[in-house]
Amino acid sequence: MAKRRAPKRHCAICSKDLFGFDDDMELRALGVSPDHELAAFPGQFMCGPCFESWPLREQYGRRRVEHIQERPETTTRAPVHSDENCLIQVEVKAETASWKPVKLVPQGQHLAILWLATSGTDIVIPLEEWGKERPIQREEKRLRNCEESALDQIWNGLVQRFPSGADLWAAVDVEDVLERHARWLERDRGKS
Ligand SMILES: [Zn+2]
Repeated sequence: MAKRRAPKRHCAICSKDLFGFDDDMELRALGVSPDHELAAFPGQFMCGPCFESWPLREQYGRRRVEHIQERPETTTRAPVHSDENCLIQVEVKAETASWKPVKLVPQGQHLAILWLATSGTDIVIPLEEWGKERPIQREEKRLRNCEESALDQIWNGLVQRFPSGADLWAAVDVEDVLERHARWLERDRGKS
């Protein structure tokens, strides 16, 4: 895939140009009404320091994590743990075994996705790597300070509760996740 040149972006707070540093932040969809305090932010960008000190950061993060849990049928991700600090989803990788009716079967490298409520960002860990080492990266980028301190607080507890990827996998009703998503794909296909 050819690399696209990123459009010129600037920070929504301090207006400085962004050059793709590890801590550049893209604010993502929140599913909030237009009069919501955060409504103007999805689609905007922030430099790392502005995002760190943004007074609405934790509010953004919590809302982002809530939004991720809405309409679960649109993905093959299943929530296996959530509390005030984080959400863990397992992404069941699947391939389509048939189209009429849609039937999905598990296939590929399943993932643990750790959402942090302090930043609304996620750390993706292959299931077989879960619990071996504390994550040090987010999509091959250095973790932000707020992500590091969130991990400081929660990582040991999470690994105590789910020592390995097998423990996360055991909490997923794989058939249910795939059937729910297959039904959604069928409905979606029916509309077009
Ligand atoms: Zn800034």
